[in-house]
Amino acid sequence: METKCFEPKLECMPRKELEQLQLKKLKATIAKVYDSIPFYRKRLDSLRLKPSDIRSLKDVQKLPFTTKDDLRANYPFGLSTLPAKDLAIIHTTTGTTGVPVPIPNSILDIQSWSRQIARCLTAAGITKGDVFQITPAFGLFTGGFGFYYGAKLLGVAVVPTGTGSTRRQIQLMLDFGVTSVVAISSYWLRLAEVALEMGVDPAKDTYVRKGIAGSEMWTYEMRERITKIWDADIHNVYGISELCGPGVGVDCHVHRGIHLFEDNYLVEVIDPKTGEVLEPEEEGELVFTTLERDAMPLLRYRSRDLTFMFDTYDCDCGRTFCRVEWIKGRSDDMLKISGVNVWPSEVENVLLHHKELGPEYQLVVSKIGPLDHLKVVIETKERLSEDEVKKKSQEIVRELQEVLLITPEVELVKQGALPRDETRKAKRVVDMR
Ligand SMILES: [Zn+2]
Repeated sequence: METKCFEPKLECMPRKELEQLQLKKLKATIAKVYDSIPFYRKRLDSLRLKPSDIRSLKDVQKLPFTTKDDLRANYPFGLSTLPAKDLAIIHTTTGTTGVPVPIPNSILDIQSWSRQIARCLTAAGITKGDVFQITPAFGLFTGGFGFYYGAKLLGVAVVPTGTGSTRRQIQLMLDFGVTSVVAISSYWLRLAEVALEMGVDPAKDTYVRKGIAGSEMWTYEMRERITKIWDADIHNVYGISELCGPGVGVDCHVHRGIHLFEDNYLVEVIDPKTGEVLEPEEEGELVFTTLERDAMPLLRYRSRDLTFMFDTYDCDCGRTFCRVEWIKGRSDDMLKISGVNVWPSEVENVLLHHKELGPEYQLVVSKIGPLDHLKVVIETKERLSEDEVKKKSQEIVRELQEVLLITPEVELVKQGALPRDETRKAKRVVDMR
């Protein structure tokens, strides 16, 4: 058994060789989808494209995009190369917006996913000898199992608490000598809060010094806060349920941007409106063509995640895989309010400076007459008096005004008031226009 998964032969491959490898895998993927998925065969036929027309990596731009709606329209297994009985495990997306999307995995997919997660754990310094607590759900959602597979590949001891009660998570963390944790970023803060309520100082009283966060949009500021409270080195693992789950990329010890596993994915950044491929440093939507996926290969899958690619492949860690900046938002989360672009992450940054507020909040946009109206609903962590609520709300309105350039209405609600999905996330944006 390996104790770490750093594969310099692949992860640090000279770019030219990597591109050759990608092209070889791309050709195989296209041949496979053309032969075994009628949906793709029809699409390529309608564009008069044959697999043999793809001769360079750039030719990928001739291929049509695949969207989440395509996955829904082909429910349940229209995009699977294998029938259910030949699969290893079938996950789904969280299904907060409409029909859940099935994520079929063959045994080969599980092997490849395990390796990707093992690489993430390795980048985060988690290895055999660590006790690793997995707080994402074990179930249809991809989180829990993904981290479990990766940890098993490395011989890391696992505490699979899943979404158990937070007090219990803390108690087991102490009793079992947990040294590393994976949790979504807002849950890292919640864990710290509950620990403090229990008289446990996360930095001094626990052994947790390594961690992984991800699965939701978060910021460098938030990482700084988590790092400080826990005195732990926190890494950002990027994932997309439709591609596998967590483990599409990770930030290395340099902590600047996220390396994407380009031996498994061909990555493009496009203008979400025109579909045109953008240059490095230009912000747009990440698009992935899978290069190893067995049960559900996807061509040019639109992630809806917005970011930009760094214009250099040099990184002090030695990896040559491209780096993208932390996800700024989702193309469907960016709001245009009275002509101004508004991002949930901008609101989040303001909230981080108020310890009695957040981390859960929601942006509700409506029309009052002909005008757009933005209401920001924020959960409070402490019980506030009526006066305090009034004062705090006014303060937040002023701060948001400065950042967003529009005047929002602010409503403070008590903790837990915003509905959560099974990953513990509150929906960030509700657009009622
Ligand atoms: Zn690096």
